[in-house]
Amino acid sequence: MIKHLLSAADLDAPTATLIHDIAAEMATVAGREVKKLPTLRGRTVVNLFYEDSTRTRTSFEVAAKRLSADVVNFSAKGSSVEKGESLKDTAWTLQAMGADAVVIRHPASGAPNRLVNWVHGSVLNAGDGTHEHPTQALLDTYTMRSRLGTVAGLNVAIVGDVLHSRVARSNALLLHTLGAKVTLVGPPTLVPPVFETLTPDVRVGYDIDAVLPEADVVMMLRVQKERMNAAFFPSWHEYSRRYGLDAARVRRLPDHAIVMHPGPMNRGVEIAPDVADSPRSTIVEQVANGVSVRMACLYLLLGGRS
Ligand code: ASP
Repeated sequence: MIKHLLSAADLDAPTATLIHDIAAEMATVAGREVKKLPTLRGRTVVNLFYEDSTRTRTSFEVAAKRLSADVVNFSAKGSSVEKGESLKDTAWTLQAMGADAVVIRHPASGAPNRLVNWVHGSVLNAGDGTHEHPTQALLDTYTMRSRLGTVAGLNVAIVGDVLHSRVARSNALLLHTLGAKVTLVGPPTLVPPVFETLTPDVRVGYDIDAVLPEADVVMMLRVQKERMNAAFFPSWHEYSRRYGLDAARVRRLPDHAIVMHPGPMNRGVEIAPDVADSPRSTIVEQVANGVSVRMACLYLLLGGRS
């Protein structure tokens, strides 16, 4: 079994499916009066967050607590990181405290890969720069499976700011592994042709209206202003007109198609509020599924070892 989860590419189809199956079991715990399993009693999970997060950090925290682990939340703000402590020194401190798993979010792509050299426990990548966010891809594919019955054979359109999106990268890799077909859609500045090399069969498109009638899943991405160092489109209004998902565009989708968004949303930019809140939207389910999937990941990475 894998020790770390750094990239969606670490997962072969049987492992990803096993995580989905365990997540389905874990989901039943959420329905109980006492939402706890003793599985990770006595183990310590550290949440090491160098970037802001609402969903991912709390989701990992709830997941670890439901498995009875001790959870330490370490955020860069208010820690010695602000005094200039390096990731390596912070890692050694966590190691000395006996962390069995470190969940890391960091603005630098590749930071989790460095961390594995400095701690003995498992490292879980909770988002590194514009690189990867593997547990998001696992929860998104789990959501597709629970809504549509399968992932293999689905046509998935991932729309928007692909360039800055670790969610898009991890999803494209895992969807390929699980046999889905991915089309990345957005303005050429945000979906450069180099993305065609991400997997052997990923496609790149610039016309959302041409892609929607064939899509089983449309995954809208947040425009990541904080990572933009240039003007990638003329205006917010123009972006929204060309690539935003509104009710008129939703009518182009097949009846069974679902609408996803990893959050946080720019309502009225990449997605219209009425679409985000419609029955086709899985946005709230994605958050709930995130807890079950992260429980499954912690269980698999930590459960078997002492
Ligand atoms: N929450 C996701 C991430 O951390 C997506 C986003 O920020 O737009 O990558």
